[in-house]
Amino acid sequence: MADLVDSVLSLFGTRFPFKFVYTSEYWMVDMGPHIFPVKKYRMLYEKIIALGARPEDFLKPEPASDDDLLLVHTPDYVNKVRSGNLSSLEAQSLEMPFSSQLIQFFLLMTGGTIKAAEEALKAGLAVHLGGGFHHAFPDHGEGFCLFNDVAVALEKMKQERRINRAMIVDGDLHQGNGTASIFSKKDYVFTFSIHQMDIYPDHKPGSSLDIGLWSGDNDEAYLEALQPHFPRLYEEYKPDLVIYIAGADPYQKDLLSGLDISAPGLKKRDRLIMESARRLKIPLVIVLGGGYADQIEETVEIHFNTIKEAIRASKKGPQQLVASLISPK
Ligand SMILES: [Zn+2]
Repeated sequence: MADLVDSVLSLFGTRFPFKFVYTSEYWMVDMGPHIFPVKKYRMLYEKIIALGARPEDFLKPEPASDDDLLLVHTPDYVNKVRSGNLSSLEAQSLEMPFSSQLIQFFLLMTGGTIKAAEEALKAGLAVHLGGGFHHAFPDHGEGFCLFNDVAVALEKMKQERRINRAMIVDGDLHQGNGTASIFSKKDYVFTFSIHQMDIYPDHKPGSSLDIGLWSGDNDEAYLEALQPHFPRLYEEYKPDLVIYIAGADPYQKDLLSGLDISAPGLKKRDRLIMESARRLKIPLVIVLGGGYADQIEETVEIHFNTIKEAIRASKKGPQQLVASLISPK
């Protein structure tokens, strides 16, 4: 596998056909003994370096500004977070230790997805080694999500007239409740979510299209449910930008997952969603979303597989070789 990816990379002028957005501050935040594995960001970065990435392949995020946050979040909520004045109930629904470090973490993550969106609109594809905090609502955070980086990035691109319409393809195990709610009355963002039904969030506000799976559903059920919609949705909706939340948590050994999806099954998911976007020349941003396998290496491997699939899906290489590499196995 690594050899194949290497042979593709060696054909590009630069070793990587797209940029990554990343900062070491992503994994330095102290979450205490928490299931959210910030270390995965660092481990993934190291695997990409080992694959041959150089410093110029990485863009550093800047923290999102209040103006950016206010494109999605209410002034009251932004003030409360900024001043550290979340009520104990609000901090509790976040399910993370609320601290100034945590605020900085989410400001950078939001700025990172903005940067990746800007880059994808220039270059066609960009990978944020972070992001995907789809449970944040305009007026509150929950489920490990303080700010909705995906929604903020799309609203900013829209406000700056860089896009007319966009699509969110949410492959995280959990339904994208915050994102669905934010865009429910806005026809310029199509929200797609494929997720497990019988887990958090209890209330699932309707996305433009929701695909619900149930505990025990396997690769076959998952891919059968997914396949009819790609590239169909891209062709019908014609987004100017797609943000793909490539969650690693549908994985069968994930501590939060009841689905029985294998790592190769998730690769097929990635390939279907990314390859068809790139074939249609739709700018694509990849963000990581969740991942909580007992062995963190497995979560990192699934994210790394997504990156390898992104390399394959890149259209910048010789058509035939790329076509031969992306053909389904
Ligand atoms: Zn999740």
